[in-house]
Amino acid sequence: MLSQYIGSFLFPQRCPLCGCSLESTDSKIPNRHICPTCLHSLEHTQQFVLRDNITEDLFVANNRFERAAAYLFYDKGDKVSRLIQLAKYGRHPELIYELTREAVSDSLQTDFFDDIDVIIPIPLHPRRYRQRGYNQSDYIAQALSETLHIPTDVSHVQRIRNNQRQALSKGKDREKNVEGIFAVNHPEEMYRQHILIVDDVITTGSTIRSCMEAMEPFRGARFSVFAIAKAR
Ligand SMILES: [Zn+2]
Repeated sequence: MLSQYIGSFLFPQRCPLCGCSLESTDSKIPNRHICPTCLHSLEHTQQFVLRDNITEDLFVANNRFERAAAYLFYDKGDKVSRLIQLAKYGRHPELIYELTREAVSDSLQTDFFDDIDVIIPIPLHPRRYRQRGYNQSDYIAQALSETLHIPTDVSHVQRIRNNQRQALSKGKDREKNVEGIFAVNHPEEMYRQHILIVDDVITTGSTIRSCMEAMEPFRGARFSVFAIAKAR
């Protein structure tokens, strides 16, 4: 279903960041959604190889946490944040799909994705899903799943409360805003799984921490985290 959705997109003719033409004159080179110059200008975190990195620091308090990496850094208004805005709110999830594929090819020399059993994208509340028409994190999960051959699961974790956008909350309010927003079902089916939780951006990590807490009934499970971008 997702791939049909991607296939139904008209390829944008121009790079959304610099406006240059994206049409490849070489039939062997696939069409892209972001030009190579802009793609190479994005700042990588190197967190696939950096253990005890600043993204991991956000989750170490959970004793079943294994490792975490964000692919890129972002700041308000920079290129990465513009791409993510377009992916989330501008009906261009193919941008985040492409960034994920880039992330995987950068990770191949590392063991970051080794021994992951299942990928779980952070779910949207059904009402928000209907409004947006898609969940951008499903595209991250799909790109990971296709390139790494690891299954994705969207049935064991649900978002049961439609909280306000985290970007609109500050400090302690962010923790409160995401308290109890997730629920799980059939926890026995996740027994001893190493779960990769995926999301588009990580700021304070409170949404993912809340999701890990909801997964407490997954006996013997371990949690790792991948995101496209980490706020500085
Ligand atoms: Zn460009």
